[in-house]
Amino acid sequence: MSDLNQLSGHQLSGNQMSGNQMSGGVPKVQVDFDKCASNGLCEALAPKVFYLDDDDFLQFHKQELDEADLEPVRRAVASCPTAAISIVEG
Ligand code: SF4
Repeated sequence: MSDLNQLSGHQLSGNQMSGNQMSGGVPKVQVDFDKCASNGLCEALAPKVFYLDDDDFLQFHKQELDEADLEPVRRAVASCPTAAISIVEG
């Protein structure tokens, strides 16, 4: 308890974040639709972010990524066979 108080009181004042945070911006996912092969792999890995519509076009549920979205979307980036997905910071 007191450790936490010390941290918030002395070390995390102002704009300082916890090291792995970028300053301020929200990470966003982008897809190069010219490259996308509509195979749905990213939807399978990150269904809260990607889906294929009725015409098999890739769509987003959302592009601004929460902390919880980052890991599945990073997996989708690594697994996309056409390297169509990217994450832009802020
Ligand atoms: S994994 Fe890549 S190629 Fe497949 S649907 Fe997603 S963006 Fe398109």
